[in-house]
Amino acid sequence: MEAIKRVEETTTRITDSVPRMPKRSNFFSRSAHGDLGKKQQTEVRRFVGKMPLNNAFGRVMRSITPLQRNVAQADKAPIPTDLTERSEHLKSLCTFLDADVVGVCEVPDYAWYSHDGEGIVIDPIHRYAIVILIDQGYETLAAASGDDWISGSQSYRAYLRGAEIGTVVAGYLNELGYEAQAHTNSDSDVLHVPLIMLAGLGELSRIGEVVINPFLGPRFKSVVVTTNLELAVDKPIDFNLQKFCDSCLKCARECPPGAISFGDKVMFNGYEMWKPDVVACTRYRVSNPAGSSCGRCMKVCPYNKPGLLQQRLGLWLAVNVPASHKLLIWLDDALGYGQRITALKWWFDLEWVNGKLVRPKKSNARDLRPERTAPKKTKNVTFYGIDDAPAPDAKDPVPLRKKKS
Ligand code: SF4
Ligand code: SF4
Repeated sequence: MEAIKRVEETTTRITDSVPRMPKRSNFFSRSAHGDLGKKQQTEVRRFVGKMPLNNAFGRVMRSITPLQRNVAQADKAPIPTDLTERSEHLKSLCTFLDADVVGVCEVPDYAWYSHDGEGIVIDPIHRYAIVILIDQGYETLAAASGDDWISGSQSYRAYLRGAEIGTVVAGYLNELGYEAQAHTNSDSDVLHVPLIMLAGLGELSRIGEVVINPFLGPRFKSVVVTTNLELAVDKPIDFNLQKFCDSCLKCARECPPGAISFGDKVMFNGYEMWKPDVVACTRYRVSNPAGSSCGRCMKVCPYNKPGLLQQRLGLWLAVNVPASHKLLIWLDDALGYGQRITALKWWFDLEWVNGKLVRPKKSNARDLRPERTAPKKTKNVTFYGIDDAPAPDAKDPVPLRKKKS
């Protein structure tokens, strides 16, 4: 990461009018409350548990969650006053704990949710964030279609490692006498996407609300530790992804429900971004009948590579020679990246149905479809911003407002 260009501002324009959102506006929460209809509400209840390995991850995750918030020791430890030394120390600790990439940033107010799941106001209590990325694992994803029965477990494996690392780091800071809180997939008071960008770990991509790291691509999950310990911060990075995504449409082409934009960026909630159809994506992931979630965009993205020498050369070209982008995009398909390597499949396709573990009726067995092009007519996608957010404490279903973008 040291070799990647640093810039003063994120390559995605973020205005100074980003609204804070309640957790109730998150589309998994909206599904659970019935905002997307009965079927979706039923499916979201069995989302984690429908595959046995997911259930096993979920049990361990839930045992860690209560440890994420703890009280700091009364006395401050005699640690260095040099902020860079402190940040380097914490990054080394994260690496020691098996983190893959780590950065530090200040937390803008808009990165804090406005209200928790019960509708209680969240105060932005900490100024700094340690942002940690966990690789979801190349080999298993190479074997998968991205939306088959291992899909959910790929996420949970990284969430669990992230929860363990983040909770240990927060606990260590508490021991040193500083406030700190881990924000994991089970319980987070902050939005991770802006913090990943601000901590210099990646750029926002065409996929929409997904950041790409130059070495991991979109193949990671994040965990954040916020703290009141003063730290030296990193700058955002620029590895030319905005130009690359301008030319490359592979994720949009391969997304099963067509939730990724083929078009240009738009302004949404203060960000200039490629806005996905979040409802279509959430519906597909939650009620996928032939898999346990979806990460197909992550699977097919040309930045999802194991990092072999020739791929590092491709990355160097993508960063430094924009004229090579079209060739690199063509080559990615021509060399078959994004196809499944079925010889690497190791997991069993299993599903809990009515209290019994069964072999699922179907499993997505997708490979590339280079013939698929952008739809002739631009799809009207409804975007749900702050004006459409349900009341933070709304318990009953709040149906989606029909509105054209
Ligand atoms: S997760 Fe699946 S449905 Fe959602 S954007 Fe990615 S490919 Fe499309
Ligand atoms: S698949 Fe292509 S367009 Fe989509 S995020 Fe990756 S590089 Fe960008």
